[in-house]
Amino acid sequence: MAQGRSPLTYGILGYPVSHSLSPVMHTAAFAAVGLDAQYRLFAVGPEELPSFISRIPDEHINGFNVTIPYKERIIPFLNEVAPDASRIGAVNTVAVSSGRLTGYNTDAEGFLRHVKEDLSFDLASRIVLLIGAGGAARAVAYALCMAQVKKLVIGDLDCAKAARLVKDLKRNFPRVEIVQALNPEEMRVEQADMIVNATPVGMKPDDPCVIDPATLHQFQLVYDLIYNPLETTLLTAARAKGARCSNGLGMLLYQGVASFEYFTGIKAPVEVMREALAEGANHL
Ligand code: NAP
Repeated sequence: MAQGRSPLTYGILGYPVSHSLSPVMHTAAFAAVGLDAQYRLFAVGPEELPSFISRIPDEHINGFNVTIPYKERIIPFLNEVAPDASRIGAVNTVAVSSGRLTGYNTDAEGFLRHVKEDLSFDLASRIVLLIGAGGAARAVAYALCMAQVKKLVIGDLDCAKAARLVKDLKRNFPRVEIVQALNPEEMRVEQADMIVNATPVGMKPDDPCVIDPATLHQFQLVYDLIYNPLETTLLTAARAKGARCSNGLGMLLYQGVASFEYFTGIKAPVEVMREALAEGANHL
């Protein structure tokens, strides 16, 4: 009897990964395009990363997403890193082909596509305040500079981290005014057209608002990368001021769309993925 071909294998590498919405999104997409593929959770402890990489051929892994804490740590294990990911300094998607591992960053692309296509917000010539300078913030900052914002203000509790990001960005984007806010006053929240929260502040129910809510106003777009909960204290405060608001679900969708296309070479079924995510988010 002829042996059936085993399904293609994709997944998400991280630690922990149990809360991820990526499996529901990608599984729905595979079914929609008729691809025999599975999407697994690769919960890999920090000591086990080298052995995970060495098992990729034996386990027939065709590609994987990367999340906390490996977006930077994965880079030395890759054969190739796409130019965008290399400039951002973080990889969230790895495609495996003929045993070679290529890293991409689709967080930047995901953020930009959501802001442009779904929110119809023109970033060119805007003043943007970015709170946070971690992995996600690096991708968002890169996207904002690519979109030619006029001024980007970056504040992080870890001043050295923010300084490194500002320095990297200035080297790559000499035409954008990029400044570091060394304290909350220097963030000048009221001057910003758009405020982006790229810190985890807001994920826990008793987290405070990441900025002083009194400084928000109705002419701003307030974008929180957090999608669990769907409405953070920051978004509640912004909504109360009449500002436009977005949580991080749209960015998650479009980074997944781009990952799917790198993994499979097939155009992603965006609406199917959007519905799967919305459904998954209701059960978080
Ligand atoms: P990360 O690497 O831990 O970076 C977060 C940064 O925020 C750290 O540098 C942290 O400083 C800083 N920070 C914490 N509290 C702060 C405060 N009150 N003011 C200013 N800075 C503060 O995390 P990440 O991977 O970048 O992720 C950040 C958030 O984005 C998470 O909530 C994650 O779920 C979300 N995210 C969403 C998407 C999406 O598709 N929607 C994608 C990626 C990430 P310390 O290190 O000093 O604490």
